[in-house]
Amino acid sequence: MRLYQRDSYATRFQAQVVRAWSDEKGHYAVLSETLFYPESGGQPADTGVLKGAFGEVRVLHAYEEGKAFGDVVHVLSAPMPEGVEVEGEIDWPRRFRHMQRHTAQHLLSQALLRAGGYHTVAVSLDGPICTVDLEEEAEEARLQEAEALANFAVYADYPVEAFFVSQEELAQYPLRRPPKVQGKVRLVRIGDFDLAACGGTHLKTSAQAGPIKVLRWERYKGGSRVHFLAGWEALEDYHAKHALLMRLALGFSTHPLDLEKPIQKLREELYALKGENLALRESLVQALLPRALEEGVLLVPGPILGELAKRLLEWSGRDFLLVSPEGRFALLGPRRQEILERLKALGAKGGGKEVVQGSLPKDKVAAALDPGLVS
Ligand SMILES: [Zn+2]
Repeated sequence: MRLYQRDSYATRFQAQVVRAWSDEKGHYAVLSETLFYPESGGQPADTGVLKGAFGEVRVLHAYEEGKAFGDVVHVLSAPMPEGVEVEGEIDWPRRFRHMQRHTAQHLLSQALLRAGGYHTVAVSLDGPICTVDLEEEAEEARLQEAEALANFAVYADYPVEAFFVSQEELAQYPLRRPPKVQGKVRLVRIGDFDLAACGGTHLKTSAQAGPIKVLRWERYKGGSRVHFLAGWEALEDYHAKHALLMRLALGFSTHPLDLEKPIQKLREELYALKGENLALRESLVQALLPRALEEGVLLVPGPILGELAKRLLEWSGRDFLLVSPEGRFALLGPRRQEILERLKALGAKGGGKEVVQGSLPKDKVAAALDPGLVS
């Protein structure tokens, strides 16, 4: 007996352990009835506890044994005896979020059908960001319409009802999508907005699923995949994004919705400064080149050390040592390895092929600049 289909707001139940077993992967139990929703239809399984004379075990996962309407298998944190009475309790905050995601998905799938003629072929409700896969390629404008329509359905506060019908009766119901099961079929009706065959857990009214926010879409398997958030999780996302925008706006002394302007200005300033910096470095290299050629050993600003060394490679018949005030150095010329050994005596570390680069202690910079070191 699947108690969650009778009352999706019930959190506790009594049952008997019909079967219990263990294998190398874990411990399992099947109960006479259960509130634990087994993972299916894109909705994750419930978790919770089972208590009895044996103590308390956690329900880590629940799944259907075999195909549709097999027994619900509870995956347990510890083994449990067969035949005993148990009291079960599901993790309600987790379930409520699942019901928000799932009911919102019904609303959004219907809204997508109405706004764009889009057909839902698969859903994933595993994380706060849920997805609906559509048979068709979506259009941005139609998705915006669908989002608005889904939220109108939220504010319309439609009742959500679930009921069983026989195969014969099924023809009278205009379903959004045909059932995947045979025999008695469970239908879920959301006011006069949506009607679909579904075995999942739903909210009492559409209002509890809101807000519904479409985040983005992408092309997927010849159709499209739409990402959305619903209920508490949409509100949490809004909270996080709002807080971030407020912090950024404070830093720029502007309104959150005017942030693009100062960021664009900053970007333009950065590009201009990069250009200026490049020109300044080049003129500094040009200015220092004659002195480097004349003196062989030279104190140079760190940022142009590598560039200046590269230019000096043209005069490869001679040795050059460039040192920055911070202790970085570049060394090139036929005797570079021999000079490196002398620098190592000062505590230098470094390596390289044509140009040896490295660093030495700051207080040894003056000693390294002694022309005698290179001669
Ligand atoms: Zn459903």
